[in-house]
Amino acid sequence: MNYDVIVIGGGPAGCETARIIAEKGYQVLVAEEHRKIGEPMQCAGLVSPRTLKAAAMPDAIIINRIHGAFVHSPGGEVLYIRDKEPYALVIDRPEFDRNLSKRAQSAGAEILTGVRAEVGDFFPGVTGVKFKSSGGEFTAGARLLIGADGANSRVARRINTSAPHEVIRMCAAEVELKCSEKDMVHIFLGREIAPGWFGWVIPVDEKHARVGVGVSGGDKHSKYYFNRMLEAYPDIFKGVKILYSTGGVVPIGMFPGIYGERTLLVGDAACQTKPISGGGLYLGLLGAKLCAKVAAKALSKGNLSSEFLAEYQWLWEREMADEIQTALEHRRIFLSMSDKEIDTLIHFFNRPLWQSIISRYGDIDYPSWLAGRLSIARPWAERFFIAGFKKILNYC
Ligand SMILES: Cc1cc2nc3c(=O)[nH]c(=O)nc-3n(C[C@H](O)[C@H](O)[C@H](O)COP(=O)(O)OP(=O)(O)OC[C@H]3O[C@@H](n4cnc5c(N)ncnc54)[C@H](O)[C@@H]3O)c2cc1C
Repeated sequence: MNYDVIVIGGGPAGCETARIIAEKGYQVLVAEEHRKIGEPMQCAGLVSPRTLKAAAMPDAIIINRIHGAFVHSPGGEVLYIRDKEPYALVIDRPEFDRNLSKRAQSAGAEILTGVRAEVGDFFPGVTGVKFKSSGGEFTAGARLLIGADGANSRVARRINTSAPHEVIRMCAAEVELKCSEKDMVHIFLGREIAPGWFGWVIPVDEKHARVGVGVSGGDKHSKYYFNRMLEAYPDIFKGVKILYSTGGVVPIGMFPGIYGERTLLVGDAACQTKPISGGGLYLGLLGAKLCAKVAAKALSKGNLSSEFLAEYQWLWEREMADEIQTALEHRRIFLSMSDKEIDTLIHFFNRPLWQSIISRYGDIDYPSWLAGRLSIARPWAERFFIAGFKKILNYC
């Protein structure tokens, strides 16, 4: 069996890429190792309204609307931010994935579930892919291979792309929990609870929430920090009951090579995630659009060389490099702060002027818009000046 394109991974990035390429009349196969698209869910399902628009999703996918956040500093200060408009939406993530896969199918893509794909040998003009399922093994060939196989992408390793800048380990759960303000999320900061990242409570309704913690570095398993967070906030987590546990990893940074000979990467496999929140759905959809554009062009020209496919890297960097680099710079400063300094920062921002700036310019897809404004705030600005000064000294 030969295809124009084989996409490894039936997550949102893979299905969306497959849909756009199939709509152009190419033969596309998507291989997903899990039996059901969208399951198991390894996501908090919090997205911007923009993401649902980009994916043309029906409103029925929305489970809850979020208007604000309580940001808990390590020392107990709580920053309160609230807006009239919802700034984020809690979605039915499995249904989101299913919708994207159904659309890919309607566009003509073939979707195989319950098959694990492995990149095999390269032949002239065709890349072999081996598929393993409970029913046996078979192989197929493709003119172009797309690695949409998530955070632990083997396709990325196959084309020798460098390791991500950082990998965030997450422990999360869907829980029964009384959420007195169901349109407000809680964010927890501090090295004792979430070294290098943050913890969260995202209400689903008055009685259910998605709870989790991310860790970068830290000498213990993320589950340890998850339990610590629950213990540290007894008032918030009173009566919590875990319905099921989940988790996973999110790579962050900027890959220098999201393409190779007859190969493209998309979504988490291409590190298309936000360095401040770890969200990957919006960036994965953006990546899918650009990946599919370059793939279709390469197929029509019959040129699948890595030189030709390099346009994808260029398009991606033009779209997102500034945003990702700015976010990484802010993240670097955040990581260099002690818990005491974070307390000072949260205390500083907990005033009507800064609260209104945060709610006005805060955007979960483009945090640099807000970061630019906050960088003039004294505690943050001092860091910038020190960092800038050190850079100049190093340069001299
Ligand atoms: C705990 C947690 C919470 C998160 N919360 C949010 C959030 O609130 N908002 C947000 O925007 N993002 C969130 N993310 C990130 C988001 O889930 C990912 O960015 C998104 O799923 C990436 O989509 P993808 O299609 O690139 O990869 P995935 O969704 O990971 O899909 C990759 C698919 O490839 C399949 N696969 C892998 N290898 C093979 C193989 N060899 N053969 C066949 N199939 C294979 C996998 O089974 C998987 O289904 C979260 C992540 C985690 C871990």
